[in-house]
Amino acid sequence: MEKIKMTTPLVEMDGDEMTRILWKYIKDDLIEPFVELKTEYYDLGIEHRDETDDQVTVDSAEATLKYGVAVKCATITPNQKRVEEYNLKKMYKSPNGTIRAILDGTVFRAPISVKGIEPNVRTWKKPITLARHAYGDVYKNSEIRVEGAGKAELVFTDAAGNETRKTVFEFEGPGVLQAQYNVDASIASFAHTCFEYALDTKQDLWFASKDTISKKYDGEFRDIFQNMYDSEYKTRFEKAGITYFYTLIDDAVARVMKSEGGFIWACKNYDGDVMSDMVSSACGSLALMTSVLVSPKGVYEYEAAHGTVQRHYYKHLKGEETSTNPVATIFAWSGAFRKRGELDQLPALCDYADKLEKATLSTIESGYMTKDLVNLTTMSDIHVCNTEEFIKKIADNLKNML
Ligand code: NAP
Ligand code: MG
Repeated sequence: MEKIKMTTPLVEMDGDEMTRILWKYIKDDLIEPFVELKTEYYDLGIEHRDETDDQVTVDSAEATLKYGVAVKCATITPNQKRVEEYNLKKMYKSPNGTIRAILDGTVFRAPISVKGIEPNVRTWKKPITLARHAYGDVYKNSEIRVEGAGKAELVFTDAAGNETRKTVFEFEGPGVLQAQYNVDASIASFAHTCFEYALDTKQDLWFASKDTISKKYDGEFRDIFQNMYDSEYKTRFEKAGITYFYTLIDDAVARVMKSEGGFIWACKNYDGDVMSDMVSSACGSLALMTSVLVSPKGVYEYEAAHGTVQRHYYKHLKGEETSTNPVATIFAWSGAFRKRGELDQLPALCDYADKLEKATLSTIESGYMTKDLVNLTTMSDIHVCNTEEFIKKIADNLKNML
């Protein structure tokens, strides 16, 4: 078979630990035998980030702006333990945070439905797509550890030099302090992307925040969504037979648990971080969750929603067998190939992406799966595979399809 050709390179962001191992297996067995792979490679592994003082992360995001489509492996966000483990020069910020700050945009996460693996929440009949605002808030905070008594103030100086000043707290002893920000332009592009994605996929859109407590900050999010809906989207939504619904975040959580699914749940940055793990775990495994960052600058970054699966990696290093689920990482690649194919008008590349996903799902549906899925499946004739066996099994299916 002749290999499928690409014209524009994908921005490839390699990562850490067990997912870095998966990355190589996927490329070796599922991609390179079939596609004349063109990528611009950025090594976001923690050692290389450290060598480059994290410049490689910035460079990879800028390459994404240039080429339009990136695929990213999970990466370590260093904490104190990681700084010691890897002897890092400093505690670098989350690569995803750095990339999202450059690309702006919204992360859409949806569970991958597999026949024979039912969600833990019995009422959920359809996938819930989570839209996470990927800019600002706590991910770009400024924090101070307060060592003793003193006054904390929030000060804003406008371009003309006028100050707005507010007392945050009069400390009588040690404590902690944090400031966050967001900008109307980013909130508006978040809202736009969500409304458009809802119309595109013909699903209702829910949005929630904590506007009863955070009257100005979260209130601004609520108002931007509502005003945009009323002025630009109401008629289109009514025509499409879908709805926009705003509520308090706690109310939304309660309603989501009782819902049938099949809608887009738009969340602020932190809510989206937390709730996407809840939705994906309830739908089965974190490894059955796709994730794509859609930027208002017209660029896309595909990744898995889970982390680097550290516990499995340590087993792997000791030479023990692992059974790590590669599905979300495979779907990151397939999503990126499909988008690249659409943008470059390469139907063969889109077709390959579809078949890669089909081969992956049919492997599971025929009873071959990784350990994490065993307790979730309703199937009876099951073969538990180790990491490599599972990928080889998918490769066999894919060969038959292409
Ligand atoms: P994790 O990698 O998401 O894994 C947590 C647990 O979930 C695993 O120990 C495993 O459970 C299960 N799991 C997750 N993905 C799996 C898969 N593909 N196959 C099978 N089981 C899977 O989170 P973590 O171990 O807490 O974090 C490790 C590192 O990932 C951290 O350094 C963190 O900074 C980073 N992280 C990166 C991203 C990203 O780059 N997008 C996101 C989150 C976290 P069992 O151990 O029970 O098998
Ligand atoms: Mg998270």
